[in-house]
Amino acid sequence: MRKRRWVFAACLMLLAAMAGTAQAACEREEDHRYGSWKTKTSATCTRQGHQFRYCRNCDHWEQRYTAKLPHTPGEMTVTQAPTCTEKGREEGVCTVCGRTVRRSIDKLPHAYGEMTVTREPTCTADGRGEYTCATCGRKKAETIDALGHDWGETVTVKAPTCKASGTGEQTCLRCGRTRTVKIDRLEHVWGDWTVTREPEGARRGERTCACTLCGRARSERFYPEGTLYEDMEPCEDVIAMQEKLRDLGYYKGSIRSGTYGELTSGAVARFQKEHGLSDHGVADGETLAAITAAWEAQTGKTAVDVLDDEEMEHAEQAQTIGK
Ligand SMILES: [Zn+2]
Ligand SMILES: [Zn+2]
Ligand SMILES: [Zn+2]
Ligand SMILES: [Zn+2]
Ligand SMILES: [Zn+2]
Repeated sequence: MRKRRWVFAACLMLLAAMAGTAQAACEREEDHRYGSWKTKTSATCTRQGHQFRYCRNCDHWEQRYTAKLPHTPGEMTVTQAPTCTEKGREEGVCTVCGRTVRRSIDKLPHAYGEMTVTREPTCTADGRGEYTCATCGRKKAETIDALGHDWGETVTVKAPTCKASGTGEQTCLRCGRTRTVKIDRLEHVWGDWTVTREPEGARRGERTCACTLCGRARSERFYPEGTLYEDMEPCEDVIAMQEKLRDLGYYKGSIRSGTYGELTSGAVARFQKEHGLSDHGVADGETLAAITAAWEAQTGKTAVDVLDDEEMEHAEQAQTIGK
């Protein structure tokens, strides 16, 4: 073995000497143009591999060693079983070189069973639990989160009114601790409306009502039921009227949204003027009846009232009974 290495080294020196004398194509180290690495000796599990590569322009060459391969043991025999406290050992014979290969086996995990509570948690304080390894007796502690209070029903201390919120008290069902809680203010309970001024045409009426609990009064201006007017909540009734006014040539605006805007108000006012009604632009009962009558006279059809859901249901029921 030693002799072989010596001969090899001598060869290398000879090659190096030849490189110095023969060609001198590459002046600097970075000028060399190497081919790919050629394996002279392959690596095994007992020796390194040896590779060369040569410059295409000159006699220069390089060498390198590659790492030994790992042994390839056959079946491993456990010589010492692992436990949860110590690693185990196993060995086998390399199928390539015949050497004995020894390896360690990872420790086993501890065999923790059920948790034992060592300190019960309370509403406010964490508790402690413990696990014990059935094999080695090792203990592992764990925190048990505090439970939090378990508040019972609210007992009214000061009842809420529709003017002010009230207070109540709650008691923890577990530890008896109490806390004060706010009870929301009550809603006013409005009584019936009292009309203080009747509506008339485009002039709204006025009505008031009082809270049956605190007596607080409120009033509002109103039109009679069924009146359509500017800036009211968009609705189907407005659409039905706009369609008739369109057919009659008074309305040229949008019909889709059911909005009673300036255009609608203007169309209603023109209709009223031409039909001997006061032209305030508010579609009161008289105006709506006149629009329907004019529309029916012009189209020869019979107008169908727009029904809300409840009315629709009644109409359907009436129909079913009629059959
Ligand atoms: Zn070269
Ligand atoms: Zn081997
Ligand atoms: Zn253990
Ligand atoms: Zn509590
Ligand atoms: Zn009230």
